[in-house]
Amino acid sequence: MIPFTGNPLDRASVRRTDAEWIATQRKAQSSLVLPMWRLQPFIIGPEKAQPPLELGFLKPGLADSLAAPDAPCIFLGLEGEHAMFALDISAARDPVSEGPIAGLGHFRDARAAGATLPMKDVAIMGQAKAMIDWHNRHGFCPNCGARSALMDGGWKRFCESCNSEHFPRTDPVVIMLAVHDGACLVGRNKRFPGNFYSALAGFMEPGESIEEAVRRELMEEVNCKVGKVHYHSTQPWPFPSSLMIGCIAEAESRDFQPDGEEIADAMWVDREKAKRLIAGERMPDISVPPAVAIAHHLIKAFAEGSY
Ligand SMILES: [Zn+2]
Repeated sequence: MIPFTGNPLDRASVRRTDAEWIATQRKAQSSLVLPMWRLQPFIIGPEKAQPPLELGFLKPGLADSLAAPDAPCIFLGLEGEHAMFALDISAARDPVSEGPIAGLGHFRDARAAGATLPMKDVAIMGQAKAMIDWHNRHGFCPNCGARSALMDGGWKRFCESCNSEHFPRTDPVVIMLAVHDGACLVGRNKRFPGNFYSALAGFMEPGESIEEAVRRELMEEVNCKVGKVHYHSTQPWPFPSSLMIGCIAEAESRDFQPDGEEIADAMWVDREKAKRLIAGERMPDISVPPAVAIAHHLIKAFAEGSY
């Protein structure tokens, strides 16, 4: 399974618009609240705790005094009878060592948490992180500039000034492996360290299909011409709000030329080498993304001979 997918919560979207129900659940003793501090999830136990780790869902009220009065609180969904919320407590100075939740757990960078939490917790954490991040960056109406207000358990912002509604956004990104006769093409972004190569990627643009974005990005970044494009899988990627659309593209030849701007280098990797890389073998000239990234799963699918 691809990390950040497989969220087990029932999003119960029909309940979101019932403000009274949301307010009751927010205080109910059966409900659970996940504190998020500066976009980092709360995790049970000390920082050096060994896996399996667990998200720090708490009884309502426990962490409330740490949150600013207008801090985003998101209704994540239902787990059985339990209503699950995420609360932004970024206003707190140092919640790990002082205040009501001190000593109960720690906060961990969301990317690091994505690589260490159990899969179901990664998906819930990603949902919470993406939502709180969106509210933090969208406090004002894009239509008239007035301050907007959180509604529907966090799934909408409403501007009273111009009577407009605004919804959490997801930005589509294409991420793809070009393949040709038993080899796949990976690139090294200028920002990547040393020998780190990955699938190429780029934001989709308005007025483009997924296939068109894949072809354009491969042309722009490595001057590689591809024909048929196959959909593989998607991954919500809450940094801050992307949806990674994983594809495999059939290259017309092995020709390529990195643009030198974004992509410093690229190389064709044959199936045997891809297999060894995915199995974790260390090589001097190339390393590939870990399993938290969809790029890993695209390379794995190629290595297993699916394309
Ligand atoms: Zn407005």
